[in-house]
Amino acid sequence: MAEVRLVNIGKTYEGGMEAVRNLNLTIQDKEFVVLVGPSGCGKTTTLRMIAGLEDITSGELYIDHKKVNELDPSKREIAMVFQNYALYPHMTAYQNMAFGLKIKRVPKAKIHEQVMRAAEILNIEDILQKKPGKMSGGQRQRIAIGRAIVRRPKVFLFDEPLSNLDAKLRGQMRIELAKLHKKLDATVVYVTHDQVEAMTLGDRVVVMNKGEIIQNASPMELYTNPGSKFVAEFIGSPKMNFIEGYIQSADGKLVFKNNELRFDLSALTHQNLKDHIGKAVELGIRSEDVYLSADNLKNDGQINAQIIAVELLGNEKLIYTELGEHTLIAKVKAGQESPIHRNSDFYIDLEKAYFFGKEDGQRIY
Ligand code: ATP
Repeated sequence: MAEVRLVNIGKTYEGGMEAVRNLNLTIQDKEFVVLVGPSGCGKTTTLRMIAGLEDITSGELYIDHKKVNELDPSKREIAMVFQNYALYPHMTAYQNMAFGLKIKRVPKAKIHEQVMRAAEILNIEDILQKKPGKMSGGQRQRIAIGRAIVRRPKVFLFDEPLSNLDAKLRGQMRIELAKLHKKLDATVVYVTHDQVEAMTLGDRVVVMNKGEIIQNASPMELYTNPGSKFVAEFIGSPKMNFIEGYIQSADGKLVFKNNELRFDLSALTHQNLKDHIGKAVELGIRSEDVYLSADNLKNDGQINAQIIAVELLGNEKLIYTELGEHTLIAKVKAGQESPIHRNSDFYIDLEKAYFFGKEDGQRIY
């Protein structure tokens, strides 16, 4: 297995489209790193440059400490699994998995051993004689992964491998991929636009936007410590709530204020907030930190507003309200009373609030 290192990598397509800018990223040996971001952020381009399917415009790419910018894809010892599986329709699962080794003139017995090993790992022994047309989406995806495994690559690259599967199968395959990573002890670079996939699979998650890395951290760190509004909004479901307002100093107290509300921030003594007095900011709060009662809250911002919708999730429910033009969502226990179309008090746990600059979206506090 191997380390993958990208140093100041850039990619400009013919016609001048700058898809990736100044990317610096080290994927450690055996690490599972997920590149996540909205459509067009450059994640697939990055993966394809690692694979050698796309020329690198600037910067250096190292696999196992060896510069590989100019190295042919077939010599990079990587295997890529594509969103559309890219299986040969006229070949059986076995033949699809064996094909790469066959053209490398690996002896038949060795090919058989490796195909059977991969089949066992993926639990697909019973479909080896089937052709892709007779398989389910999940089976095709397993064959595509099996084809990657038999090549014993140093690095596995996955490009949205689950996006063609239905929600249930996607959930199952997510768990299988996580187990597979443990079994193979492999270096994995995985591209997705799905933040749930990113959070559940990645040892580390690299959030990209507009061709650049916005934040590179463990899933938990991204969730609890987002560096910008972009990451705070992208990671987590339901999305973080945001309320626009100003930081002001009133009677020696620090307050967060807009036309509808005023929260006393004096207990939050962080210097960074003081530096933003008079400036427009956005307060961010996760739905699990908005309550319908103030019990156990040391520092709360209280709002009274109408409950406009209630969404039952099982043992929890989402309570929707509107503050001016913002929607505010509280996630509470399902048993909690929440009369729809009536006014209710909402309590924001200010100890858990984030503050972002309105202009640049950077985290202030
Ligand atoms: P998606 O999730 O939609 O696949 P992505 O984050 O993987 O998006 P890329 O496919 O890497 O994004 O594309 C990054 C940018 O480069 C986009 O603006 C895209 O339109 C552009 N792009 C991709 N391939 C080419 C190409 N062959 N020629 C010109 N521009 C391209």
